[in-house]
Amino acid sequence: MVGMRIADVQDQIDHELVSRTQIDHKIQEVAARVSADYAGKNPLFVAVLKGAVNTLAALSQAVSIPVQIDFMSLSSYGSGTQSSGSVTIRQDLSTDVRGRHILIVEDIVDSGRTLAWLSEELKRRGAASVEIFALLEKPARREVDVDVKYRGYEIPDEFVVGFGLDYDERFRNLDSIAVLKPEVYQGVHA
Ligand code: 5GP
Ligand code: MG
Ligand code: MG
Repeated sequence: MVGMRIADVQDQIDHELVSRTQIDHKIQEVAARVSADYAGKNPLFVAVLKGAVNTLAALSQAVSIPVQIDFMSLSSYGSGTQSSGSVTIRQDLSTDVRGRHILIVEDIVDSGRTLAWLSEELKRRGAASVEIFALLEKPARREVDVDVKYRGYEIPDEFVVGFGLDYDERFRNLDSIAVLKPEVYQGVHA
């Protein structure tokens, strides 16, 4: 299958950070661990819309055990390329998480605020366990301590797009992770 690759939007891409081969490799590796760790537990994969959709789809197709999936839409107020501390629910899960083993599937951990909030919220609702898989992490920007059990790739402090991640709703369907040319951001990223 051929999707939208860097070559297709080359005029707007500065450089690639994580290739599709690397993404696929990491997902396979994590899927093997998750399949072993959650065997017999009927886990619920929870993804935060919209960025984590690709990662959740890829992980759920790579595991060898039955899983369920659900989605949540959160907004940390503010636009542009920075997330803020305060989180509100725009669209909630349709699943009762009481007694469930939850794996939060995230695209990227930046400050860690969204994940710290979500993880606490699911525990408050009575989840039996809550663990996190994050495909990407920006260690330089971490403000809040969150325990990411299944870790993907560490990337430098650069705003990235692709594999679900957007800039102004664009580039989500790019098949790998890349940094845009500065002029595309129009000076929004501080
Ligand atoms: P945090 O709460 O960890 O600061 O922010 C996490 C969320 O901010 C991510 O789930 C993602 O939606 C967004 N985010 C953080 N860094 C980036 C980035 O480099 N690119 C994009 N597209 N979104 C990001
Ligand atoms: Mg996200
Ligand atoms: Mg976004």
